[in-house]
Order: sequence, then structure tokens, then C-alpha cells
Amino acid sequence: MRKDNNTYTPPLVNDQSMSLDSPITDRFGRTFNYLRLAVNEHCNLRCIYCMPEEGINFLDQGKILTTNEIKSILKVVADLGVSKVRLTGGEPLLRKDIFELIGYASKITTIDSVHMTTNGLLLSDYIEKLEEAGLSGINISLDTLDPEKFKEITRRDALHDVLGGLNAAVKSNIKHVKVNVVAMRDFNNAEIHDFTELTKSNDITVRFIELMPFDSHQIWKTGKYYSAANILEDLRKKIKVLSPISGSSTEHHIFKIKGYKGRVAVIPSYTRTLCGKCNRLRITADGKLLNCLYSQQETNIRDAIRQRLSEVTIKDMIREAMGKKMIDGWTAQRQGKEHRESMTQIGG
Ligand code: SAM
Ligand code: SF4
Repeated sequence: MRKDNNTYTPPLVNDQSMSLDSPITDRFGRTFNYLRLAVNEHCNLRCIYCMPEEGINFLDQGKILTTNEIKSILKVVADLGVSKVRLTGGEPLLRKDIFELIGYASKITTIDSVHMTTNGLLLSDYIEKLEEAGLSGINISLDTLDPEKFKEITRRDALHDVLGGLNAAVKSNIKHVKVNVVAMRDFNNAEIHDFTELTKSNDITVRFIELMPFDSHQIWKTGKYYSAANILEDLRKKIKVLSPISGSSTEHHIFKIKGYKGRVAVIPSYTRTLCGKCNRLRITADGKLLNCLYSQQETNIRDAIRQRLSEVTIKDMIREAMGKKMIDGWTAQRQGKEHRESMTQIGG
């Protein structure tokens, strides 16, 4: 058996039949079956809307979830009906056990799909191992196609590597490849059309995301915010027929363009117009469960595991925390004092 970080906690043993657990629901009729789990806080980029140049006040490694703690969480939430998992961060590809974690999650029979959100910097080196591990989807964050702007936004000269990563992902067997573009006024809003054109011959989804106020330097307050309505208006100016795709989508408005292989999506992450469809649980890199992106209330799952609380107790903690979810992100925000310093502390 291997030791992770400073503490060793064996994965929880199964003490219940999976089918006996009731799903995670709340008083507004939502069911939560999608876990977004941050596997670290560290990153090899410094996107201006996410982290200052010097980084954030990173947690000690001993506070970060170990391999076995993550496996325990995956097992518990799978029992509770979670069927989709996204590993995020920080930069998940910086975590040495990332392939083991993906492999573990993808072998849980009730988990249908395992996804990862990455900045793409290391992707071309790792794509085969990700495929082998069973990754079903990958979201690559890329806000500009211009090398100088890329340097400005990420504080690193690395557009070439990220495009290499995107290319490798498109050629791989990983089924769902998406590009996350945070739309910013007078920065990349003029590139919306260029990003859309990527979907012409590639079977990918380009997702335009509203800037959110989670950065210690509050870039957010500098007038860069560009709303979902603005993005949609820009899309409609260039594309005559944007056909909405119906389906199980819970976080975005998604469209097909006639003759294009891929799709475009718009995510109202700040305007929060889709909270009624939310199906997500978030767990931070140090194992705190958040029932909303905008909530400051945390349930410490890591400590529950370290204290060897039973699986039944941990499941109850998760159900209880999610049951208390506010009707929308605006209400959740009003319960707390201030925004967090970085998306890496939330589990972007
Ligand atoms: N490092 C990985 C990456 O960049 O894809 C994963 C973690 S990152 C926090 C996850 C996503 O959050 C990225 O798509 C990033 O663009 C987005 N993000 C970070 N800060 C944001 C902010 N203030 N507003 C909107 N999106 C943000
Ligand atoms: Fe790193 Fe992702 Fe944050 Fe950029 S958005 S600094 S790549 S964690």
C-alpha cells in the first residue's frame, strides 16, 4: 500500500448495497448527479482572472485530498447516484496520480463518464495515458488565439503548447472535446467568431463563459465582464441560423450551426439564469463540499474521512449539505461575506 502526502487513509469499504442509497436532492426538486472535484490548487499558468502572478495562499500539501481520500469520495458519491465526474483544479495534469484517479472513477460501473478541465499545456504529452485511463471528455481552457494576448492573459508564452494539446485531443479517442473561452470585453470579444469557426470542421463544442468575480485582483471590476446576452448577440450577428440543441444540458445554452461539425454554447455563469437546472456538487482540493459556486458554506468531507466516520454518516452529511442548497446563486451569494480569491479554491 502506498502513502500519499502525510496521511494515509485507506479507501472506505463498502458497507451498503449501492442501490439502497437514496439520491441527493434538495427542497426545490433538483437532483445532484454531477460531481466537480478539484484535485489540486496549483497551476502552471497564472490567468489574470484566476490567480495573481505570485499565486494564491496555497494550502499545505497535507491538507489536500490524498489519492485514497479522492477514491473514497468517488465511491460514496457514486453510491448516491452521481453518474458524471469532472476532475479540475488548479491544473489537474500537475497531479501525479491523475491517471490512477481517472482509471478508478471510470471503472465504477455507475459512473457513466469521467471528464477533466485542463489548461491544455501538458496535454499533448499526456493524451495517450488519459485515453488509456478511460477519460470520456476533456475541456480545454483557451481564451484567445493570439499569442501576444495569450501571454497577457496567462502570463506565460504558451499558446503553441495549448493548441498542440487541443489538436492532440481532437485526434484522440476521447469522445467529448470542448474549448472553454471566458469572454472579456475589449479583450477577446472580437474573437468570438474565430472561436466559432473552430467548430466548422472539428466535432468539438466551443463554450463561451461569463467572467465571474473570483479573483483577488478583481479584474472583474475593470469593465471586462461580457454577458451571455452580449455573446449571443455577437453570435447571431455572424451566424444566421443558430439552432438550439435540446437535451440534458443543465448549465448552458447550446447550439448547432448548419453545416458545422461541432457546437457552440453560452454559459451564464455570472447571470445565473440556469440555477433551477443545477445538478452539480463541488468538492474543493482540500475536501470541502460546496452546494453552490457562490456559496461560502462548506462541509468538510476530508476531515470526516480522516476521522474514520462511517460511509453512512458521510453520505448523510452530503445529502444534508446539498439539501440546504439555496434556490439560486444570487441567494447563495447573499448568505456569505465576500467572494473567494480564485476559482482554484472552488473547483472550477
Ligand atoms: N486549470 C484548469 C483550466 O484552466 O482549465 C482547470 C481549473 S480552472 C479554475 C477551470 C475553469 O475556470 C477554466 O475554464 C477557467 O477559464 C475558469 N475560470 C477561472 N477563473 C474564472 C473567472 N474568474 N471567471 C470565469 N471563469 C473562470
Ligand atoms: Fe490555472 Fe486554470 Fe486558473 Fe488559469 S484558470 S490560472 S490555467 S487554474
